[in-house]
Amino acid sequence: MNVSSTDLSVLRRCWPEYADVSKTHRVTVHGVEIGGAAPVVIAGPCAVESYDQTLNVARAVRAAGGQLLRGGAYKPRTSPHSFQGLGEEGLEILAEVRRLTGLGIVTEVLDPRLVERVAEQADMLQIGSRSMQNFPLLTEAGRTRMPVLLKRGWSSTLGEWLCAAEYVAKEGNRNIVMCERGVRTSCQWSYSRNIFDLNVIEPLRRATPLPIIGDPSHATGTWTLVPSVARAALAAGVHGLLIEVLEPSGDREQHRCDADQAITPETLAEIVAFARGMQVPGIPEPAPAPTVK
Ligand code: PEP
Ligand code: MN
Repeated sequence: MNVSSTDLSVLRRCWPEYADVSKTHRVTVHGVEIGGAAPVVIAGPCAVESYDQTLNVARAVRAAGGQLLRGGAYKPRTSPHSFQGLGEEGLEILAEVRRLTGLGIVTEVLDPRLVERVAEQADMLQIGSRSMQNFPLLTEAGRTRMPVLLKRGWSSTLGEWLCAAEYVAKEGNRNIVMCERGVRTSCQWSYSRNIFDLNVIEPLRRATPLPIIGDPSHATGTWTLVPSVARAALAAGVHGLLIEVLEPSGDREQHRCDADQAITPETLAEIVAFARGMQVPGIPEPAPAPTVK
């Protein structure tokens, strides 16, 4: 598929008010604007595991300067025997933690039948890497008109990712934030879970005015790599970061999901300070006509 020959409403050239490559479509989540000059940091546990854990992490995220809380109530796990998330109970915990901390909530929805329910509790719906081509799910997410965080499938082309965004947009919902979370390469797990695709940021920004978030946690799978990949993503032009964080008392071994990639709240504070010190870089003009496959 060659997206250059297709008219997708999410493409810059089909969206007249964003013809200028320096402009980004801003998406506001619980009062936090994504797509402006200031990078946004979204952080939290991989999964909502208990009320205390979620509240402790949320308070730590807030103290570190994170602007939105991300935590999964419904978890897409490779093995059906792994912890699948607390489900409805997790959603209720997130809503209570928002009430106590004021942080807006980003959480994943896995099942088209649950979109309405998750949308009642969340401020932004996450569509995970494994679900990027779940077309009924994308359509339902589009119908809510809520902000959607659309993670890239780990082997998806830029064109496939943009087409996934189009499924949401065609329902009248352009509140979409794209999330690069690492792609599969032959290096898989030899030193890194995935490889953060720095190269995709500029062509994606050229192709669409939708904002882009970088996820160094799933891109690396290893907490020691998260700070450098976070800084690299910001330098490459993302509008913000999505990062997984430990509880302040942080016993890594006790985490039921993605323990090896969670950073401490102290490290998160350092990344936030770095992000605050910079502006999202522009992209060079004039733009060559992008060929997006
Ligand atoms: C997650 O965000 O916790 C997650 C499962 O990510 P991904 O869909 O990118 O694998
Ligand atoms: Mn995770």
